[in-house]
Amino acid sequence: MKKHYRVIIVGSGPSGIFAALTLSRVGVEDIAIFERGKDIQDRKRGRGMELLCGWGGAGAFSDGKLTLSPTVGGFLSEFIPQKELMNLIKEADETYLLFGAPKEVLGQSSDKTEALYQEARLAGLEFIPMEIRHLGTENCIPLLQRVRENLRGKIDVFFETPVKELRVEKGKATGVSLHDGTSLEADFVICGPGRVGAEWIKNEVARLKISSVPSPVDIGVRVEAPASILRKLTDLAYEAKFIYYSKTFDDRVRTFCMNPFGEVVTETIEDIVTVNGHSYAKKKTENTNFAILVSNTFTEPFRDPIGYGRYIARLANLLGNGVIVQRLGDLLDGRRSTPDRINRCITHPTLISATPGDLSFVLPYRHLKSIIEMLEALDRITSGIFSRHTLLYGVEVKFYTNRVKISPTLETDIQNLFLIGDGAGITRGLMQASISGILAANEILKRIRKK
Ligand SMILES: Cc1cc2nc3c(=O)[nH]c(=O)nc-3n(C[C@H](O)[C@H](O)[C@H](O)COP(=O)(O)OP(=O)(O)OC[C@H]3O[C@@H](n4cnc5c(N)ncnc54)[C@H](O)[C@@H]3O)c2cc1C
Repeated sequence: MKKHYRVIIVGSGPSGIFAALTLSRVGVEDIAIFERGKDIQDRKRGRGMELLCGWGGAGAFSDGKLTLSPTVGGFLSEFIPQKELMNLIKEADETYLLFGAPKEVLGQSSDKTEALYQEARLAGLEFIPMEIRHLGTENCIPLLQRVRENLRGKIDVFFETPVKELRVEKGKATGVSLHDGTSLEADFVICGPGRVGAEWIKNEVARLKISSVPSPVDIGVRVEAPASILRKLTDLAYEAKFIYYSKTFDDRVRTFCMNPFGEVVTETIEDIVTVNGHSYAKKKTENTNFAILVSNTFTEPFRDPIGYGRYIARLANLLGNGVIVQRLGDLLDGRRSTPDRINRCITHPTLISATPGDLSFVLPYRHLKSIIEMLEALDRITSGIFSRHTLLYGVEVKFYTNRVKISPTLETDIQNLFLIGDGAGITRGLMQASISGILAANEILKRIRKK
């Protein structure tokens, strides 16, 4: 370990990796990545931190859906012009292709997608057409291994070495310090700690008095139904994204992460268990799952959306000893699901460890009502989803760090400190996280060249 690096990158998720690729590609030396998790060959799917930390970050065991549309997967369109964002999507996509992503693009627009757009409008839904390159869970690790090999010898990577503190002097980033007391200097610090590092970066942002604005918290359920019911949507748009403004509360409700023929999985973040979903490129189940998430932003005096989300997730864990599953019919009839009732359900749950229970004890009325209203609206375009046999798993929560005030090049108001990826609250998916790394690295390259 050197005492001084030109660039220190915190986190080896897609955001950190793309920053490193962009810098090393043009020969910048003295780059170090500090990563709290393990190297790619030592990572296991496992639970909790294993799933989210290490080379590839949360992307390693993800579904690997690269969204090629600028309006999905983050807020970068608020920072840079659409055309520039499109060019960056192309650049990042070419890098994924270079490392072995499949050539096929799903969800390309057609007359049929236009017709669905119109049909959705009649049902009170907004359909967001989206092109996707699907790596599939089984291809993510080999791809990440190839990237790791490409960077071997060009940059220093330290695994199981979490950064404790970002170091700042006179309004300028000077390096980082580690838990064993080691201090390292750097000209530039790029910080991409992901959602798993949201709490850590929130505390660092507060300690360094970096200005931030509260982010929304997305709380909802994972919906599972026979794949045949959703085929109309999934055959047309691999990732069918809909936005709905709930009748009762006017809250923004959206579908998220649709997994045709996929499976529902648990996700452990520190001491809480939430639900998620994925699908394999080849292995198929008989079901399709997707999330319905209700988005809320708190105003004064409450500024802790992460705390709120955790609280709700904890409540589900308390009652269900983990994740709860309920038939929609039971929820509407005001009764819990039991193992017997789940056994009688024509949708066979793919997450068998979920406890049959009652989500109305967990989710606030506001969320439950909005979810039910959206399912009703969806039923108007894909008949059968508002069935008593539809399964709801709870809860799915997306925590986003309070959004830090950053420049279009993702620099904080501390000079040479860049915040990228999901941990900065500006991205929500692999593609935009990767692009955020490119953006920060490009700015650093500009400054290095100027010098
Ligand atoms: C199950 C699952 C499925 C998903 N499927 C998709 C999908 O199909 N398509 C899609 O676009 N997105 C998907 N996502 C989301 C996607 O994985 C993330 O948006 C993306 O990985 C964010 O990249 P990132 O670099 O910002 O953060 P992460 O990938 O979260 O990486 C952050 C890294 O920083 C490390 N870190 C944190 N704090 C520190 C610290 N203090 N010191 C050192 N290291 C630290 C962490 O260990 C982690 O490795 C999925 C996520 C999950 C969990």
